[in-house]
Amino acid sequence: MSRVTFSTNRADALLRLHDFVPHAGRDYASGRNTDFGPHVKNHVSQLSPYLRHRLITEKEVVAAVLRQHDMASAEKYVQEVLWRTYWKGWLEVRPDVWRRFCIERDLALQTSFDAHAITAAENGLIGIEGFDDWARELVETGYLHNHARMWFASIWIFTLRLPWTLGADFFLRHLIDADPASNTLSWRWVAGLQTKGKTYLATTDNIARYTNGRFVPQGLAKSAVALTEVSSHTSHPIRELQHYDDNAPAMLLVTHEDLNPESFISGEFKAACVATATHMLWGEKSAQFVQSAAMDTAQRIQSHYHCETRLSLSLDAESLLQIAEEFGVKQITTAYTPIGPVADVLSKADPILEQSGITLSQTRRSWDTHFWPHAKKGFFAFKEQMVEGLITEGVELKT
Ligand SMILES: Cc1cc2nc3c(=O)[nH]c(=O)nc-3n(C[C@H](O)[C@H](O)[C@H](O)COP(=O)(O)OP(=O)(O)OC[C@H]3O[C@@H](n4cnc5c(N)ncnc54)[C@H](O)[C@@H]3O)c2cc1C
Repeated sequence: MSRVTFSTNRADALLRLHDFVPHAGRDYASGRNTDFGPHVKNHVSQLSPYLRHRLITEKEVVAAVLRQHDMASAEKYVQEVLWRTYWKGWLEVRPDVWRRFCIERDLALQTSFDAHAITAAENGLIGIEGFDDWARELVETGYLHNHARMWFASIWIFTLRLPWTLGADFFLRHLIDADPASNTLSWRWVAGLQTKGKTYLATTDNIARYTNGRFVPQGLAKSAVALTEVSSHTSHPIRELQHYDDNAPAMLLVTHEDLNPESFISGEFKAACVATATHMLWGEKSAQFVQSAAMDTAQRIQSHYHCETRLSLSLDAESLLQIAEEFGVKQITTAYTPIGPVADVLSKADPILEQSGITLSQTRRSWDTHFWPHAKKGFFAFKEQMVEGLITEGVELKT
């Protein structure tokens, strides 16, 4: 079925970016909402798996686009890329929202009285045109167009009245770009939990129009009353970074949260370890993507830092201790790990490593340091900072 395929090395990601850049202006602005289906070329970039694992970065993508287009024509695309940055920053200071999602999802999995309906929904057997097709497309390709993700989530929540956490879980298990921030917060946004009271309602007309008449689903909910939640979330400052001593022998640790450390972490390393830890992803397709992208990353790391580089499946305190001892290093440094399973595992490993005299430090990209603190309120306020932020980040804007 799939026309959508994602090769897994940085060179191919850059090539995809290069091919897309000429279309990032007016083509994208006018065509991005239409989903012609998996067999036909859409007007979107399909860069999300690479951005998700930072095989290429938001900054790289935006800079390439703005080298060829002025801001007026590429604004829509740049803003979409910034949505990703916004969601990451928003969740980073509200880790409880991710934790609560995980708890509620696990609870819904144990107690769900909708098991049959959920199985039918995940297998594309509900009998709603479009919805069933997207369920199958997602499972087969690991990707869905943004508009299809919105329609699907809306029908799941408001027409089928299934628990939103299980829909979000279905996406996590199948999307190659599965991401704690973009996925959880987008589902919350559709449900009316993210922007309190504001929901997204999928309608027959909108789907027919933006699928180019492929689907004209019947029986959709006519209204979308926002879901509610009892607990409110508090915001915390972004985690402090531990000082990295670039004179002491160190090992570079690479995780699937950032597969391109050579673009911003400098220093001499005695060794590097690319820990795939694919069990910390949720689905087979994202695990395969990371597994294979990690091999490309290991090769690049080795030739960039000229140090012995090793691939590892594990990412726990014990395996980190073992490898640090083997290479005789007292420091491990890694790219900052945003909210999600990898950050959880490293925060558990940290005190254990410390007991053995090994420090674990993290280095954050200046893009994140710059933009994330602005993700305090809604996206509108955030995007007000966009141009200034891009200039601070050294992105050249065409006039
Ligand atoms: C219910 C739902 C769940 C989602 N789950 C994920 C997820 O797990 N991982 C994920 O990366 N995106 C998620 N998104 C956002 C968006 O759908 C995808 O990023 C986008 O469809 C990827 O396709 P693209 O690369 O062709 O996007 P383009 O339209 O070409 O956009 C370029 C890049 O901008 C970013 N972007 C675009 N739209 C959004 C958006 N609405 N929110 C955040 N970033 C955006 C992505 O990194 C994308 O690669 C979700 C959206 C919804 C509605």
